Amino acid sequence: MCTTYLVTEILKEFEEWDLIGYPRLVRLNPNIPWKTRGNGAICVKLGKGRGKRILVSEVKGKPFFAFEKGGAIDEKPRVFMKRTITIVERLAHFNMKGTNPAILVSSRKPAPAQYWKTVRGVVKIKETGNVLPKGSIKRTWKNGRGIIGACAAMAWRPRDRTWEIITYRKRDKWGKKRKINKSDMIKLDERFPSTFNNHDEINKHIACIPNSPCPVLFGIRGDNPRELIRAMRSIRTETASAWVLFETNQGTDDHIVDVGSISLYRSGIIRGKVARKPWTITGGHVLIEISTKKRRQVCAAYEPTKEFRDVIKALIPGDNVSAVGGRTGQNPGTVALEKIRINKLVTDFQKVRNPVCPACGKAMRSIGRNSGYRCRDCREYAGDAIYNKVPRTVTTGMFEVPVCARRHLSKPLVRYQDNINMGKLKKQ
Ligand SMILES: [Zn+2]
Repeated sequence: MCTTYLVTEILKEFEEWDLIGYPRLVRLNPNIPWKTRGNGAICVKLGKGRGKRILVSEVKGKPFFAFEKGGAIDEKPRVFMKRTITIVERLAHFNMKGTNPAILVSSRKPAPAQYWKTVRGVVKIKETGNVLPKGSIKRTWKNGRGIIGACAAMAWRPRDRTWEIITYRKRDKWGKKRKINKSDMIKLDERFPSTFNNHDEINKHIACIPNSPCPVLFGIRGDNPRELIRAMRSIRTETASAWVLFETNQGTDDHIVDVGSISLYRSGIIRGKVARKPWTITGGHVLIEISTKKRRQVCAAYEPTKEFRDVIKALIPGDNVSAVGGRTGQNPGTVALEKIRINKLVTDFQKVRNPVCPACGKAMRSIGRNSGYRCRDCREYAGDAIYNKVPRTVTTGMFEVPVCARRHLSKPLVRYQDNINMGKLKKQ
């Protein structure tokens, strides 16, 4: 079931220990075909807390605090493992094909490189076995793939981070329709400016509320953990049974590797010129070909990216762009676009009519492709037709897919600190 829900059960189970730092929700490579839906893993650090403490969760009315620092723990990893196994075996849906859980218990973290490899590349189950910290113990179920995520979540040292507050439903409500005041949700952006990815106005989509029958009531993402608690409390809903404030790598672009090309199952940036006029294929997907110094790459604004497709359609050959996206297993040769920066626009000249003969005033006729024009009667010659400068419907700047189509890891444009140039699309 929902991996994040496990944290509420772990907090209850290990009440005698303190949480050190926030519980973590770590998203991994979104292009991996064998992943679970959100490709998320969770990690908590337990110990004897010291220093400042902050409220990070409430489970059935009981508050849980995270401490700034933590002391050594005089308990065997085995004990933690045994008690966590009980929770997983009680809750996991082992009959689901993609459910291959794993638990890793360790007093040391795996090397940070393991996180980067798992968020950006492809990691095999076998190689994870070689990078587990000394003294750590693992438990896996079914094909054992879960260990890749567990190890990566523990290996994460945030370079950039965001937070998500997730509320959970009472057990008797699971699978039933959620009772949430939608207008409270829509007001989040305005009331709590550090939150993001809440609501998609154009597509009437509230991203905070899942559609699945999972125990999640809603989740709000943001850059300020304190403000997230206030934001959560501003939403009128059915009574929640618990909430957890997670530190996450969501919205950080950690999955993007900028090496000029994108290989299969990876995400990156393609810089180059639009090679030909963008085209639309069955299903409403818009494709564009970008030529870089070395090669040509087809990129797609798929149908679910809605109005973002209009930005791509507005490009013409010669425009200079930096396209951000990834190659999944579904259309392995095509880059699924997440964002695009339009660096430079060419002038759009469109042919209005054939040139007019200076002698008789009649329209001249084309001699052949790129060969010019001639008057049939007077034999006058002209090299070019009459062109008009057509105003462009896009500006330079950054564009991103709408909230309803955004990946967990994609950094939303509102998170860019330096004033980036936001692109605009003119209504046609
Ligand atoms: Zn003439």
